[in-house]
Amino acid sequence: MRLAFNALRILSLLLLIAAGIFWVRSYLINDWYSIATADGEVDLGSVRGGIYYISKTNPADGSAKINANPGYHAVAIDSSAKAALLTSSSFAGFEYGYVGFFGVRIWTLKIPYWVLMTLFLLMLVGPPLLRINRRQRRRRNGQCVACGYQLTGNVSGICSECGSTLSNAIPPVP
Ligand SMILES: [Zn+2]
Repeated sequence: MRLAFNALRILSLLLLIAAGIFWVRSYLINDWYSIATADGEVDLGSVRGGIYYISKTNPADGSAKINANPGYHAVAIDSSAKAALLTSSSFAGFEYGYVGFFGVRIWTLKIPYWVLMTLFLLMLVGPPLLRINRRQRRRRNGQCVACGYQLTGNVSGICSECGSTLSNAIPPVP
């Protein structure tokens, strides 16, 4: 259990740092990863403060076809690239877009980095805060801090449920 908590904390910290780096980088260089699908292409990109998911679908009759460009691409941002992404609506850094032409359909969704960083920060500090809160609650209630067993009347100084010594437990107020 403790090992799993530590792995989650390390992962959260790495994700938090990575999101911060890519956040800054997204204003200088756009990173894209594209995958060719059966009927088009899916792109994942780091662009202007967020992560873009783009789905491009070709018409079934083959009358039009977008240029699939699979793999990783890094695109340095200049003024000409600014108009490349379409946005139908946006809120607090979230963006949503849709466009259709000649039967080709393109969906766009952007998740801002501030949301991802908030999530990773909660993953990092949430579990320790919850554990501290639980320890304090058990101490207040006269329970074993380790396992939560009710210690009213305990005289041995050892939890009869889990066997931990109760040096850190405050006896319940009578
Ligand atoms: Zn116990």
